[in-house]
Amino acid sequence: MSENPFEAIRKACDSFGKCFQTHLSRILPARCEDHLDKPSSVAGNSKTSSFSFFTASNPKVVNDAALLTPDVVAHLPYTNIALEKKITAAPLTKEELGRATWTLLHTVAAQFPDIPTRQQKRDVKELMAILSRIYPCKECADHFKEVLKSNPVQAGSQAELSQWICHVHNIVNRSLGKQIFPCQRVNARWGKLDCLDRSCDLQGSTNLNFPV
Ligand code: FAD
Repeated sequence: MSENPFEAIRKACDSFGKCFQTHLSRILPARCEDHLDKPSSVAGNSKTSSFSFFTASNPKVVNDAALLTPDVVAHLPYTNIALEKKITAAPLTKEELGRATWTLLHTVAAQFPDIPTRQQKRDVKELMAILSRIYPCKECADHFKEVLKSNPVQAGSQAELSQWICHVHNIVNRSLGKQIFPCQRVNARWGKLDCLDRSCDLQGSTNLNFPV
């Protein structure tokens, strides 16, 4: 009996799909290599910077380890293990730590409830006090202690906390000769997180949140 004509079409589609995948898998590693310089030395040269695998002409890639998704790393032509070790071993700078910490603090403020519980207010105050003791930069921690003394935490509401953090961040900015951030724009810079089902709510935030 002759073959069903639809079966022939299905087979043709199958074989086109396989062919497409094969070619794609050849193209992808090549495209990753486009972003990469051959390492001046994979190991051995202790002065090689963490991201020396990447071209200086593509600094965005150099500075953004997040672009190294497992998929990209899997296609790297050089010793992936050595590369991954170098990335994780790269020491964090004081500036990177600062940016990460301010991100956390401004984000906590953005997520803070309009009507916080007594516990939530206490938590924020403790967080700042703890930060001023264990922040892993002595100069910064000591300075922050002084800042807290003259600017006690204001955590009566979301708006109050985000303005307070903006204000103390500006005190640090000023001491470092940085630009002052306009605090009326803090919500535009640090908006609420985009989370489903209130999964980014702070601990203890419910619809039955009673004012204190
Ligand atoms: P950051 O100051 O880290 O700011 C990150 C981003 O926040 C900016 O790009 C901007 O978009 C936004 N932003 C800036 N200002 C505000 C604001 N007022 N409100 C809202 N958003 C704002 N470093 C030192 O060298 N000496 C110190 O004593 C010191 N103390 C610190 C104390 C604390 C508690 C922290 C968290 C950090 C401290 N740092 C200190 C680090 C310093 O504040 C910076 O984080 C670091 O210098 C990097 O600065 P940056 O210019 O990249 O931006």
